[in-house]
Amino acid sequence: MKQYDVIIIGAGAAGLSAAIGALSAGKRVLILEMGNAPARKVAISGGGRCNITNTDANVARYFGKNPDFVRGALSRLGPDDVLRWCKKHNLKMEEKTTGRFFCADGADAVVRALIQDSGNADIRYNTQITDIEKVDGMFVVNDFCAQSVIVATGGTSWGAVGVSDAGYKIAKKFGHRIVPVRPALCALKIAGADSEMAGITLDAEITVGKRVLRDSLLLTHFGFGGPLAYRASLTDLSGGFYLNLLPDINATDFLKTQKNQCGNRTVASILSDILPRRIAKKIIGENTKNIADIPNKEIEQIAQKLSKIFIPSDKISLHGLSAAEVVRGGVDTDDVSSKTMESKLCNGLFFAGEVLDIAGDFGGFNLHWAWASGHVAGMNA
Ligand SMILES: Cc1cc2nc3c(=O)[nH]c(=O)nc-3n(C[C@H](O)[C@H](O)[C@H](O)COP(=O)(O)OP(=O)(O)OC[C@H]3O[C@@H](n4cnc5c(N)ncnc54)[C@H](O)[C@@H]3O)c2cc1C
Repeated sequence: MKQYDVIIIGAGAAGLSAAIGALSAGKRVLILEMGNAPARKVAISGGGRCNITNTDANVARYFGKNPDFVRGALSRLGPDDVLRWCKKHNLKMEEKTTGRFFCADGADAVVRALIQDSGNADIRYNTQITDIEKVDGMFVVNDFCAQSVIVATGGTSWGAVGVSDAGYKIAKKFGHRIVPVRPALCALKIAGADSEMAGITLDAEITVGKRVLRDSLLLTHFGFGGPLAYRASLTDLSGGFYLNLLPDINATDFLKTQKNQCGNRTVASILSDILPRRIAKKIIGENTKNIADIPNKEIEQIAQKLSKIFIPSDKISLHGLSAAEVVRGGVDTDDVSSKTMESKLCNGLFFAGEVLDIAGDFGGFNLHWAWASGHVAGMNA
């Protein structure tokens, strides 16, 4: 049986980051990967351009039973460290919107750089792990053994690239609890969605409980897509949500001002100055009256239809796991050390990346979590 210091299960973002950390600490590292290539999700990330990090990475951008868990890893590997690593590999970075960094050389270049840095590890592809044993203080994984194992098997969404739930099963075997897994960073199906609106994109706001999200919303034939819907899918939608199509203005004040200043225009015509015409028509319906002839009470009702559209929970469902960029849920962070990523229940067992009950916001936060948690696990394993 061949012996290593550290065995890493999964050659994804977190597994390779862990390998780089463990190698830098002088460890002998083996990576076991079920697929025939490394980091397959990294390779398709960011539409092929890998949104590698976000300079706003902080606890407020993470979700899970205990988002505070991310603090330790983020303080040890921050966005600047990731950008420095990119510079070292001559990867050209592009800041698309504030803080969101993409690799202009393509996601494949990021994967090549990861493999270059983990070159001193043994990597076995096409090796799917279903179970591990701990015998006399050593972990036995297939024909290999090590003092430490890092489980970096990722989440179970986007199955097209090849995913498994082995990480959860291994965690359970060693006494860990699993927070139920569900799709996240995905589109929202809305019962009764009007397919005639499909294709419209607009800047909008969603309020879920106390959380106010502002981003680009895509109307689809089944409901909502685009960054705003993806971000909403991370939250608890059991109380429904409010949609505001005019987040920059107070709709009531705006319409009342228009009534005073240009009363001979119809509401549909006024709204089509600030909203896509199809939406304006849908909201106003057949009302062809000039705005001057519309009572203020009715104007207030129209404003509500624009800025406080309530979508009840029974009308919302998440697009399935197969089309979700990440999952919410995973290995309960209560039983894992946030400083080292080591299990509190089993010495030498570590977890990193999406297999843990941590999901990041849209915009590079999930890969950042994979790099940071992987680094910490690798340095401590
Ligand atoms: C289409 C898409 C686009 C995305 N774009 C972005 C983006 O631009 N920015 C961002 O921050 N996040 C993005 N994400 C999310 C991000 O890719 C993941 O959160 C991140 O890859 C998680 O890293 P990980 O190492 O934990 O898991 P993964 O990267 O999923 O790696 C897990 C690895 O473990 C292997 N594995 C699983 N089970 C076993 C087993 N039983 N035995 C052996 N090996 C196993 C898998 O094959 C895989 O290689 C995107 C996700 C998708 C699906």
